[in-house]
Amino acid sequence: MIDHSTIAAVSTPLGKGGISVIRVSGPEAVPVSSRVFHPGAGSLETVSSNHMVHGRILSREGLPIDDGMAVVFREPKSFTGEDTVEISCHGGMLLTQTVLEALIAAGAAPAGKGEFTKRAFLNGKLDLTQAEAIIDLIDAESTAQLKVASQGIRGVLSEEIGSIYQSLQDAAASIYAFIDFPDEDLTDYSSAELLSLLEEVSSRLESLSDSYRFGKAVCEGIRTVIVGRPNVGKSSLLNALLQRDRAIVTSVPGTTRDTIEESLPIGEITLRLCDTAGIRLTDDPLEQMGIERARRALDSSELVLAVFDSSEPANEDDRFLLRILKESAVPALFIRNKCDLPDRFTGSMPPLDSIPVSAVNGTGLEKLKEEIQRLFLADTIHYDGHAILTNARQFHAVARASEHVSSAISALKAGYSQDISCMDIESALSDLSDLSGRQVTEEIVDSIFHRFCIGK
Ligand code: GDP
Repeated sequence: MIDHSTIAAVSTPLGKGGISVIRVSGPEAVPVSSRVFHPGAGSLETVSSNHMVHGRILSREGLPIDDGMAVVFREPKSFTGEDTVEISCHGGMLLTQTVLEALIAAGAAPAGKGEFTKRAFLNGKLDLTQAEAIIDLIDAESTAQLKVASQGIRGVLSEEIGSIYQSLQDAAASIYAFIDFPDEDLTDYSSAELLSLLEEVSSRLESLSDSYRFGKAVCEGIRTVIVGRPNVGKSSLLNALLQRDRAIVTSVPGTTRDTIEESLPIGEITLRLCDTAGIRLTDDPLEQMGIERARRALDSSELVLAVFDSSEPANEDDRFLLRILKESAVPALFIRNKCDLPDRFTGSMPPLDSIPVSAVNGTGLEKLKEEIQRLFLADTIHYDGHAILTNARQFHAVARASEHVSSAISALKAGYSQDISCMDIESALSDLSDLSGRQVTEEIVDSIFHRFCIGK
């Protein structure tokens, strides 16, 4: 997978700004950059590493186009692990593009998405979970997400995975000795010791799995749908929660036909909100499609905000909604909207534990947000400084490892000889290798780094 070309890209966002940074990385980074950047004295080839120097920037035609700064990071002490040069120029769009073109004319290839970080991974500067934490850091929309991501980059998760890996490797080594020399006493661990080691590993894997409930709520967001019959105020509620006009609010029943998605930070967690067509029984074929979509969205969601109209008695549609929610395993919060109007809802239905809200004047929104946080954070221990899984890829790898360790434990408990558990331990080791990227397919690596922008 290692590519020995020299690449260049603009690392700052496209647009006008105070400065732009253009990054060059690869074995030829210094000679390539020195054709474009001339320090006041000498050449980039001779400047000290990690020191910023002032100089003149030349276009591909060799004409001076700007004065700027450059830093040379020599391998392996750079982000990518290769020779890297970062050139800062004034932040004009044409100017920045001209500097990049000059670097390409001087011999660099344009970098692909996430290619700098991919090289950092391939050169062993960071593992896959750290690379994913960089994406989370760049995408962070809440301070909790920043905290979790920076912990990931510092390697808190990588260290925990590494240490569990080491324990499993020790167990495997001991079993190999047992397999090779069953009659001699060469194993590091007796069966009882092996069992207790695996039980400890299993409980650490379980803690990691548990952390995903928190990590997901913070980093990926909780897939949330707003359901309710037409006109109860779903779009108004969504807008009130987002505090801006995203959905089109109308007073004709059944007009919210398309689903829209927004992310909404609530304290430490993030909701990924979907406004759906109202769930009700209908003959209108177009509406029918919206309802099917809503039901599907309901099934694949992790939180349902079910909205009722407090100003009207409950009707068939409300009862239908309640019924399908009871059939579903997804946690739901019941919201009695329009509580600014006289209550004609209570008493028209069996008592329902609901939160009175007014999307129009904001009453009850804070209480609703508190309830949502309580639902997702109540049973999460404090994760400060602890390893946290933040995406489904990580979670599934840990879940698989955990299953394999459990089955190794069962075999030992059932009295089978140590070698029976060896295959499971090897499988668990391979799951953990997938997780950290120690052993991973090119496809997975590409799919992760494609989530980055160019220049990162
Ligand atoms: P949806 O079909 O469920 O998305 O409902 P809308 O958000 O389009 O709202 C339907 C109508 O109810 C609109 O006329 C809103 O202005 C009104 N409405 C929504 N929420 C409230 C509320 O809390 N109080 C009052 N008085 N009217 C509301």
